[in-house]
Amino acid sequence: MTTQQVKQIKTLLSQPKNIVVVGHKNPDGDAVGSCLGLCNFLNQIGHHATVVMPNDFPEFLKWIPEADTIVNFEKKTSKARKLINHADIIFTLDFNALNRTGDLEPLLEKSEADFIMIDHHQKPDNYAIVTYSDITMCSTSQMVFQTIEALDGTKKINKNIATQLYTGIMTDTGSFRYPSTTAKTHRIVANLIEAGANSAEIHQNVYDTNTPDRIKLLGTALNNLVILSDYKTAYITLTQKELDEHNFKKGDTEGFVNYALSIKGIIFAAIFIENKQEGIVKISFRSKGDFSVNEFARNHFNGGGHTNAAGGRSETTLQKTISNFIAILPNYKDDLLKNV
Ligand code: 5GP
Ligand code: MN
Repeated sequence: MTTQQVKQIKTLLSQPKNIVVVGHKNPDGDAVGSCLGLCNFLNQIGHHATVVMPNDFPEFLKWIPEADTIVNFEKKTSKARKLINHADIIFTLDFNALNRTGDLEPLLEKSEADFIMIDHHQKPDNYAIVTYSDITMCSTSQMVFQTIEALDGTKKINKNIATQLYTGIMTDTGSFRYPSTTAKTHRIVANLIEAGANSAEIHQNVYDTNTPDRIKLLGTALNNLVILSDYKTAYITLTQKELDEHNFKKGDTEGFVNYALSIKGIIFAAIFIENKQEGIVKISFRSKGDFSVNEFARNHFNGGGHTNAAGGRSETTLQKTISNFIAILPNYKDDLLKNV
């Protein structure tokens, strides 16, 4: 964050304000952790802050301290609307364009609040008066820590904030293993542990909550795995019927795509998940090295994200989506094969 930006934020926060902190649709660990951590901090320094999410977040994040204070726009529409309409400041966290907030978008567009963006996705839109965007950051939660630090607030980081931010950093770095995890990340995480985050407990809470249904769904997903060695690519599909048979709940397929990427020699992985209710196929892409799934998702599947992790969607059938995907691959053959 530039000194100019720090100054701007300090000025905006120099008097008690009504603040809404918004995350993206289908919030993940980083969205929930960063929003709650920042909100908690803002309340401690005298503001009236609330987290509003476009829709619900997965069960494996429900244990996070203060997660029950999140206003889910889908369920508490009028409360969320009121909060947004009365907000002096709106922080938007962990996304780069207002259309990532789904049905919240028109409300946010209409709002006259001062917007502050904190985000690490590529190509940020220009809607905020302060755009703190850094695509080298492993997580928005790390950026929230650095924001608190820049506002001279590290002493306010209590056990809850530490736990919230730790969870965000841990989930977005695949437990500190992706290349965006730096020495600085580890230093920040050390600070969070000293401030009360219990690392073993957080890992358990997030990762050891499998239901038998989810493990069996993983079995089905792995059974459906297709390997295209010629393109160093592997993909997984899940039909709506397969999801229904395993009582699919939000978050159940989180991380499945990583199994495809963990195969030796594979540098590009995808999972295609049919969603009959929305009439779409939701896609997650992952890669290793320089192969940009952000570009791939942006160019062909109406999505985006980061170089090595992106998402997108397709509005045709699962089968057609897969055949489109396979038809595109030859255009990327050189790129895929030059990567180790
Ligand atoms: P995931 O595959 O875990 O849903 O998402 C991976 C990354 O891509 C996340 O950083 C997420 O914000 C981004 N992403 C996922 N879906 C979309 C999408 O439909 N559009 C855009 N622009 N980004 C997405
Ligand atoms: Mn993130």
